Amino acid sequence: MNRALALAAALLFCAAAGAEPRFSFDSTPGKLPKDVVPKHYALRIVPSATLERFEGRTQIEVEVARPVAAIELNAVELDFHSARLYSGAEPTVLAAKFDRERETVTLAPAAGPIAPGRYRLDIDYTGRIAKHPNGLHQILYKQREGGQLVERIMLATQMEPVHARRLFPGWDEPVFRASFEITAVIDEPLTAVSNMPVSAVTVLPGGKKEVTFERSVPMPTYLVALFVGELEVLEDSVEGIALRVYTVRGKTERARYAMQATKQILPFFNEYFGVRYALPKLDQVAVPGGSFGAMENWGAISYNEARLLYDEAEPSLRQQQQVYGIIAHEVAHQWFGNLVTMAWWDNLWLNEGFASWMATKTTQRFYPDWKVGLRSVLWRQEAMSEDARRTAHPVQTPVASDARAMDVFDAITYSKGAALIGMLESYHGEEVFR
Ligand SMILES: [Zn+2]
Repeated sequence: MNRALALAAALLFCAAAGAEPRFSFDSTPGKLPKDVVPKHYALRIVPSATLERFEGRTQIEVEVARPVAAIELNAVELDFHSARLYSGAEPTVLAAKFDRERETVTLAPAAGPIAPGRYRLDIDYTGRIAKHPNGLHQILYKQREGGQLVERIMLATQMEPVHARRLFPGWDEPVFRASFEITAVIDEPLTAVSNMPVSAVTVLPGGKKEVTFERSVPMPTYLVALFVGELEVLEDSVEGIALRVYTVRGKTERARYAMQATKQILPFFNEYFGVRYALPKLDQVAVPGGSFGAMENWGAISYNEARLLYDEAEPSLRQQQQVYGIIAHEVAHQWFGNLVTMAWWDNLWLNEGFASWMATKTTQRFYPDWKVGLRSVLWRQEAMSEDARRTAHPVQTPVASDARAMDVFDAITYSKGAALIGMLESYHGEEVFR
């Protein structure tokens, strides 16, 4: 048998032995029933003056497929003031029952089941602005002003994997994709950044303004983003896509390298995938302090600023390589993960393996002398050592509940996933694999 035939036979055997069944919405794992499906969210978020709490209003267009006694959706640490279901002009008031362990709320009408059809679900509530990067949270940092260091607060979101439910009640599992229209009411001098471009700014009394963003493409909840702060911006564009890098005050000069890298990477992906970047803009936000790396929020990627900013006055090849690599990874996610999303966390490697593999591929293409392929051997070894432990798991691995989703963000998912994809690509050849 020749190699191709052997591979075909092996693949056939694998398919027969245990291939994953084709995607089916109804059998995708998750806690939430699949008979009520969100189509569109309109969110209005009003942070309090102390930035410790927020008022929220979420209006969700839902489709009810079968008669249901109640609607179950995710919500954590949200205090509901009212929940109403509209099909015509007259709303049905729903009673809310929270289940802390499941991180859900069940909304039921006083009488009778909810008939199949299309509804709007309106919920008024308040929530907490966290001190840790879960949902909407505070970022404390120091800013030099008139020779003094003063404390400043920026608001940021981190939703992946299961924290969107702390900002708004919703279907916080990746298989439920819906469009979003986000509004934030903030202090007049501040800047708000979200997934989509700003569509309207209305000045309100009391030094406030209401910022509304355009309606998004359908996406999972874990990609929703909102940043509010005293931000400065570096602007550019490439192939008709507006590019911005936001930093806290006085740091935009250090964003120039990130901008230059993005202008190289984005056109390469437009060409490689043959599917253009889906949004009119790509913002990247440098978040001060914090311990996280980066998050691929669609159209509003966030980075630990130490991973994104690069001081050209103090050149460091290692730093430059890291900045380039992380941007390539996060921008690759705009396709692998955002445009096409795993249905459930068991296939997280399709997000992270592909984004990691693509970052190496991109870096090798534009900076061959960095020999990043050699470094990826190191990453593979890290995955191998994790693979040697008792906690090792298959690349594609069952995730029993969303509470366990964080467990799969490890070197096996990222680096072994990337190595596996690289192996397949080497076997088939770059063009065939593409
Ligand atoms: Zn990633």
